[in-house]
Amino acid sequence: MTRAISLHDVSKVHAKGVRAVDRLSLDIHPGEFLVLLGPSGCGKSTVLRMIAGLEPVTEGEVYLDGTYANDLAPSERDIAMVFQNFALYPNMTGRDNIGFPLRIETPGADPAPRVDATARMLGIEELLDRYPGQLSGGERQRVAMGRAIARHPSAFLMDEPLSNLDAKLRNHLRAEISRLTRELGVTTVYVTHDQAEAMSLGDRVAVLRGGILQQVDSPRAVYALPRNVFVAAFIGTPRINLLRGVVRAPLDGAMTVSLGKQALRLPEPLSPDHRLLRVQQGREVIVGLRSEAIRIATPAEARPEETHITGLVEHVEFQGHEVLVHFNTGSSPALVPELEAPRPQPRPHRRRREGGVLGRLRERAGSLRAGPVVVLDEPTGPEQPPAPAEGRAPGDLVVRTTPDFVLRYGMQVPLLVDTAHLFAFDQQGERISPAPARLPDLDE
Ligand code: ADP
Ligand code: MG
Repeated sequence: MTRAISLHDVSKVHAKGVRAVDRLSLDIHPGEFLVLLGPSGCGKSTVLRMIAGLEPVTEGEVYLDGTYANDLAPSERDIAMVFQNFALYPNMTGRDNIGFPLRIETPGADPAPRVDATARMLGIEELLDRYPGQLSGGERQRVAMGRAIARHPSAFLMDEPLSNLDAKLRNHLRAEISRLTRELGVTTVYVTHDQAEAMSLGDRVAVLRGGILQQVDSPRAVYALPRNVFVAAFIGTPRINLLRGVVRAPLDGAMTVSLGKQALRLPEPLSPDHRLLRVQQGREVIVGLRSEAIRIATPAEARPEETHITGLVEHVEFQGHEVLVHFNTGSSPALVPELEAPRPQPRPHRRRREGGVLGRLRERAGSLRAGPVVVLDEPTGPEQPPAPAEGRAPGDLVVRTTPDFVLRYGMQVPLLVDTAHLFAFDQQGERISPAPARLPDLDE
């Protein structure tokens, strides 16, 4: 049995008015593996706990298989949860830890057959007689998974189950979780702050920021068509290059996006997405370029969709199979508040609903209520390059290359930018190019 989980405008307001989750609507299909992704403190665990019934919903409704479930006790929901800290009973063996929920559920029945079958499935038969203190982190998490699986729940909720494990084990267990949940065909909601984990596991990824849903889409779509700067910057490594630019659309010349000292010339004839940028004439936009949209090559080698700039080598990161080169192009990066510092910034106090035009605008932009997605200060003109943001290399543009290129600090290098893979975001950080309407081939 597997089940549909629906959230309708669900909010959670903690004591002292902390709005941990803000009007979240999400339909999770039966058998789907949905990942809730976002930085620490964005409300992921709160969402999971509300689905499990461990935390009451402040506003909105939770439906399980279409049935109103706000008032159901956790035990009535037939959902199993796996936590980050394993949460095993230290004085029970692996066998008893896995069997414990079964004994509670059906007192008197012998849990052994189910425990054994689960252990076989997870390959942990030899761990059954050990106590948690005698198990490694990875083994403990397998036993915790076993305890969730043995109940044959109709849904799994997993809250960062791998974050306490080392990287190698994490990759291994990631593959195991993926295989297991697919085999069982049980609806799974998986919480992580690790975008790589989200992308590799999820049928769909729901990106949360400050308690507000930013986008829910297939991993392919959140990468290729991020709805705003936050999603674009949160997903993908190395981080997307976000540069402040100004659209120049003269009546009698090529359209360009000025990046301060240099400009990206948009090839003629303009593509439909680039034509849409014409209305931004004179306005500041945020240009998004993933590292694979730029290559080191001379103007003579340019394909029709490519445009030429130059960059000064500032830093070379050797990664074995590839090299990441940080260039200074004389442009100024746009900052994404939560993602600049290792610790999340305290969020500004958010107001409830606001009336009037401003309120409606904020409503529509959603993300605004959690503070701005991007920070832009003084508008910049093409003649005066903007001052670099504090603590950041000026105009740093990260490009991926093969290790064959020998690049040294201070070299001036010709670059080709693939304008077909250029994103443009408005000053609120919402994507304006490619056009926000979803492309047919990326629809589910
Ligand atoms: P995540 O799991 O994404 O890290 P959480 O869901 O744990 O985030 O928390 C979301 C927000 O709610 C955070 O700002 C957190 O400090 C706040 N919060 C969580 N639990 C409580 C609580 N019991 N009382 C007040 N604030 C809380
Ligand atoms: Mg959490």
